[in-house]
Amino acid sequence: MFNLKLLQRDLSVLWHPCTQMKDHETLPLIPIRRGEGVWLEDFDGNRYIDAISSWWVNLFGHANPRINAAIQEQLATLEHVILAGFSHEPVIELSERLLALTPPSLTRCFYADNGSAAIEVALKMSFHYWRNQGQPQKQQFVTLQDSYHGETLGALAVGDVALYKEIYAPLLMKTITVPSPAGCYAELGESYEDYAQRQFVMMETLLKQQADRIAAVIVEPLVQCAGGMRMYHPIYLSRLRAACDQYQVHLIADEIAVGFGRTGTFFACEQANIAADFLCLSKGLTGGYLPLSVVLTTEKIYQAFYDEYTTLKAFLHSHSYTGNPLACRAALATLAIFAQDQVIENNRHLAQVMTRATRPLQDHPHVGEVRQQGMIVAIEMVKDKKTRQPYPWQERRGLRVYQYALTQGALLRPLGNVIYLMPPYVITPEQIERLAQIAYHGIEQATRD
Ligand SMILES: *Cc1c(COP(=O)(O)O)cnc(C)c1O
Repeated sequence: MFNLKLLQRDLSVLWHPCTQMKDHETLPLIPIRRGEGVWLEDFDGNRYIDAISSWWVNLFGHANPRINAAIQEQLATLEHVILAGFSHEPVIELSERLLALTPPSLTRCFYADNGSAAIEVALKMSFHYWRNQGQPQKQQFVTLQDSYHGETLGALAVGDVALYKEIYAPLLMKTITVPSPAGCYAELGESYEDYAQRQFVMMETLLKQQADRIAAVIVEPLVQCAGGMRMYHPIYLSRLRAACDQYQVHLIADEIAVGFGRTGTFFACEQANIAADFLCLSKGLTGGYLPLSVVLTTEKIYQAFYDEYTTLKAFLHSHSYTGNPLACRAALATLAIFAQDQVIENNRHLAQVMTRATRPLQDHPHVGEVRQQGMIVAIEMVKDKKTRQPYPWQERRGLRVYQYALTQGALLRPLGNVIYLMPPYVITPEQIERLAQIAYHGIEQATRD
């Protein structure tokens, strides 16, 4: 078995991300030979539906012919060039396209090469803006409970997922964490909207009292993904925008996971009809092909850095692969597919299929909530349906679903007790039905005792 040989080679040289490597003494590691559409195929010919878009990056399937062709063409022309002092057509064109797709107040694109780096850029820019404006005391960042913004130290500091953060706490800058607006915490009978309104009072009070030392509030609009696919009502975002304006605090929208159609609209912020001061994008930006990220910001912020070199107002931040031409070309091909195929409209139908297919899970005795926002459906396993008492994380119930799904031909990597579907948009209604069935039986097995 070729799989087995590769597996041994892998385990003798690699250290995998977000993994306790000892798990692989019992858990299979799966080398993938090829991908096509929603399918991943291993060396033994087993096929898996990529239900989580390979960590939420893939939008239009693996080995997409249109994106492949665009990268190949770019490869024959220019693979990379330094973006300081030099420029290239793909990065210029991509910036024009992104600015055309976002609110008119966003006028400038700053590139990096992964999501966490985009967050670092937004945090540093916000801090530096206030310094350039003569308000150096505005240094604090406000974040939401359960938020996730990446794993580098700055991004980790503004996140709130204990499993990733707690160990490194001594290394992290202090941030202010505000209680969650997510509807999964609402009282019985309380709507998502009412809960978001109620929770916003705490955010408003904080901004009112401490705005003079706060640089920015950072949020994942509508869905807090890595924190357990926790969803909240857009009213929270519109009220946050208004409060940030009133109290002179930046709003950083981290749409790294929710952007590019995941929540049903092209960007999640559209559902609250707001424009952020910093919009961070990555993941789906290149259709899941190459690492690239970008921070879009306003002319006002850009202008605050524009001065003689010696004033130290310039933003002297860079990454080696900033704005890589191959990645920009992949991003342009991805945006072209959105335009050509009426993706957002078609997704509305797929989202309805996802709703219908996962409905039986709502009645499962160990499912606390099935929640959905556009092309994301999350199913939360609970020990007690009435009180929503969770399973202790150490029991790793989600892992059992993951293992079961693999035997059934699906990659359904959970977030703790939350099983979710976040598939590529080229998935068919039949494949969605199949995934929902696999999830149902997996949860059935994982909650049996
Ligand atoms: C994945 C993610 C990041 C970090 O992006 P990386 O490319 O993994 O560093 C930041 N914010 C959100 C909301 C994410 O989902």
